[in-house]
Amino acid sequence: MNETIYEISLVGRIRIDAHSLNNEGTVGNVTEPRTIVLANGEKTDGISGEMLKHIHTEVLWQIAKEKKVFLCPACQILSPMKADGNKAVTEMKETKSALNEALKCVVCDLHGFLVQKPTLSRKSTVEFGWAIALPNQFYRDIHVHTRVAAGEKEREKGAEAEVSEQMIYNRPTRSGVYAFVSVFQPWRIGLNEIDYTYSVDDNARKKRYELVLEAYKAMIARIEGAMTTTRLPHFEEIEGAIAITKNAAPVPVISPLADGYIQQIKTIIGQQNVQDFSSFASFMQEINKLKSAVPYKLGAP
Ligand SMILES: [Zn+2]
Repeated sequence: MNETIYEISLVGRIRIDAHSLNNEGTVGNVTEPRTIVLANGEKTDGISGEMLKHIHTEVLWQIAKEKKVFLCPACQILSPMKADGNKAVTEMKETKSALNEALKCVVCDLHGFLVQKPTLSRKSTVEFGWAIALPNQFYRDIHVHTRVAAGEKEREKGAEAEVSEQMIYNRPTRSGVYAFVSVFQPWRIGLNEIDYTYSVDDNARKKRYELVLEAYKAMIARIEGAMTTTRLPHFEEIEGAIAITKNAAPVPVISPLADGYIQQIKTIIGQQNVQDFSSFASFMQEINKLKSAVPYKLGAP
């Protein structure tokens, strides 16, 4: 019999150099990097969980398209509306049936959604926290760039003169060792959380489980995001641990901001349930090993 997986946590530290992933916004021609203030008042650099979750959704969607699994009309085109843009759901009167209808879509099931009418919400089975730079291991620089604007034609006294403008703009470039945390809850795949029955069969649940793992691999292989056209990040090192629980117990998440985080997780759930990784390749290998397991089913004998 295949091993069952209740929950998985991924925690680690990743070194990303010279990137501009996820910025606070642009004020005038200056783009501000994201800042996180830690409990002791220290300021550090961060990449938001929203962005990481969005990246996971997008790579998962690409694989789902390739595998031709069922996606609702909104998710077919990666619309953030998800189930709220699916008439088969919104035209239902009864919430339980509407939720079962929504769960047919792989992206809606795995990444959650919000429907206004009938009022329905589904929490994602995949969660991300902020990636937070270790306070003593990050640097930021604002680089000034110039771009030549398209020449404007000006007519002066009937004469035509070409004027080209220099546009000046500022772009942050950041480097750091980032602590990341993510949780995946295979037990909730296909679970209707109104009546707590699974509306998706075992075989489909297993495929969805594998899809989430594939998406983790794809996002770690190359994190796409803001400004990657000219700030393609340099990924250098990764280390961390993948922890699992096989029975109904929440998997621990200890922040890699703290030294000794892997040892703490091992102490809590046992060495045999925690796999370390120390390179991109070993991360992929450890994720692959999990693919032979099956998602835990509530109330299964
Ligand atoms: Zn959908």
